[in-house]
Amino acid sequence: MSPDITTTLSRIAETYVTLVLSVGQHDESYVDAYYGPPQIQEEVKAEKKSLADIKVTAEKAIKELQLPDIGKEEEIIQLRHQYLLKQLQSLDARVEMLGGKKIFFDEEARALYDAIPPTFRESHFQGIISEMDGILPGKGSVSEKYDEFKKEFIIPKDKLDVVFQSAIIECRKRTKEYIELPANESFTIEYVNNKPWSGYNWYKGNGFSLIQMNTDLPIYIDRAVDLAAHEGYPGHHVYNSLLEANLYRKRGWVEFSVYALFSPQSLIAEGTANFGIEVVFPGAERVEFEKKTLFPLAGMDATKAEKYYKVHELFLKLAYAGNEAARGYLNGTMTRDEAAAWLVKYALMSPDRAQQRTRFFDTYRSYVINYNLGQDLVKQYIEKRGGNSDNPQKRWEEFSKLISSPRLPSGLV
Ligand SMILES: [Zn+2]
Repeated sequence: MSPDITTTLSRIAETYVTLVLSVGQHDESYVDAYYGPPQIQEEVKAEKKSLADIKVTAEKAIKELQLPDIGKEEEIIQLRHQYLLKQLQSLDARVEMLGGKKIFFDEEARALYDAIPPTFRESHFQGIISEMDGILPGKGSVSEKYDEFKKEFIIPKDKLDVVFQSAIIECRKRTKEYIELPANESFTIEYVNNKPWSGYNWYKGNGFSLIQMNTDLPIYIDRAVDLAAHEGYPGHHVYNSLLEANLYRKRGWVEFSVYALFSPQSLIAEGTANFGIEVVFPGAERVEFEKKTLFPLAGMDATKAEKYYKVHELFLKLAYAGNEAARGYLNGTMTRDEAAAWLVKYALMSPDRAQQRTRFFDTYRSYVINYNLGQDLVKQYIEKRGGNSDNPQKRWEEFSKLISSPRLPSGLV
């Protein structure tokens, strides 16, 4: 690698950190994590750069990153270069939005997350819903039948923690068989209320995460493994711990001391966190574990686990219906109530959950694509490299490589 490229990238990386923290002064959701020197944070606060100044500095750095001879560098350096470039371009777009610029959903998704979300028509979801209609008992609309069916699978409040802790222990044990985790890693779970999300991982640095679980609405049994794998192992907690250990601490790449929420990195983070569920429990292993351990702990009839997960699998296929509601709502072609009604009808959410989801759209906007499109892109990327479900060793290897590298969405395709 050429020494001037390394010097240039490291200098721009320092600018990047300052810029992300500066945007955080205007947008309280923007800085998802920062564990670099507190002094930089204090300087940024004291300076409180205007949006216009942030934009000028970001665009200067972007221009400097148009390096002609980057293609000769080793792959990891090229990835680092792409990472800085795309993250800065996304930051620039977010600054424009904060300044009042209005853009349509798809354009926003591309500008912030380096990805183009697909569009699905109602007929796509209708097919999946008809299939669910065929296997769900009871009378009424599919949404009502689904709601009724799920009632037996609500985790009683007093059993939430024991069920979650048990799922976490299992996911951690399985992840550790394939990924070397930092020696000091750990996390704490808190149960909270009145949030627009259902769960959140706050990464604090030094291998520590605070995971918050929103208990406003009923929590169904599938959330235990979801939360344990998505927020914990091998999801966000592991992703952040590995980036910190491998890129920030070992290589000294300061851009990995900060995490900008509305940025391409989030598609990789949410995509790997969601795909991580089937990595940690390939094939029928999830249902086996749930039958043996979680259902009894939650006081549920374990003989119903297979049926529950058969329905759940179909339900997950409706995930893109959420994107359609977000697109309509944010583009102004649907009101809040219409978007909520669409979520009830095509994403089979309960009316309360659908209202909560529209509040998520208010704050996080096109961020919704990161979950389902992220998962699909990550899955395709890993499977193309031989990481299929029948080759768990290879799958873990590719997964682990991806979450320890600066690769971004356009680098997956
Ligand atoms: Zn997440």
